[in-house]
Amino acid sequence: MALKKLVAGNWKMYGLSSDLAEVKAIADASRGYAGVDVALCVPAILIERAARAVPGFAIGGQDVHQAEKGAHTGCVSAAMLVDAGASLTIVGHSERREAQRESDAEVKAKAEAALANGLGVILCVGESLDVREAGRAVDTVVAQLDASLPDRLGDPTRLAIAYEPIWAIGTGRVPVREDIAEMHAALRGRLMERYGDEGERLRILYGGSVKPSNAAEIFAIPDVDGALVGGASLTAEEFVPIIAAAASTGTVEGRQSIA
Ligand code: PEP
Repeated sequence: MALKKLVAGNWKMYGLSSDLAEVKAIADASRGYAGVDVALCVPAILIERAARAVPGFAIGGQDVHQAEKGAHTGCVSAAMLVDAGASLTIVGHSERREAQRESDAEVKAKAEAALANGLGVILCVGESLDVREAGRAVDTVVAQLDASLPDRLGDPTRLAIAYEPIWAIGTGRVPVREDIAEMHAALRGRLMERYGDEGERLRILYGGSVKPSNAAEIFAIPDVDGALVGGASLTAEEFVPIIAAAASTGTVEGRQSIA
């Protein structure tokens, strides 16, 4: 099934008010690619200003707490993200799974809390280099997906999976085409086992060193329905050519927006 591609940027811990001009440049340019959904996940403190600067463009968070409210110092709830103007959030990024020791169960709870509050969700999974080299990448990532998925899917266009091999994030290394295709096919199979035919409608993004120079090749791989982009999403100069590459590999008109 041809799905509308989603190209989402993850600004990580980069971005000050002086960078709002870049958010605007990306949002303005993305309007020229109606066949692709585009989103930027910015630092929590920048969400409100970014959302105000680019009305109608999808601004997201990079994490969400699973609780509705409470004594969770420094954390941000789904309702707070919505209140600030976010329309989606990333959950389970490997940098949080590693540094904050987030478990699959927590990632699942975060995804459920975000969806229940009307946010779109990009749920990340991916293997370490050790696991890849031991030949256990597919089994490991499918098990991680299984344990991280929300029990109830709801609208399948509101949840996307990002396959991000940890060893490819920010390193300039990218798996070979066959390995990406094998992983995405395995993830698609598990999504269909979990959600039936609706599992065919969830987008599976690839993430890990996507650049203007390799984007078209990655988007041409079967079952790659978009990308989660870190470093190359920080400037319009690098991010817009990636959006253009998604557009040139076939676009699907109509609203499938995650946001
Ligand atoms: C990411 O942070 O999700 C990511 C894929 O980073 P990069 O594109 O820089 O590898």
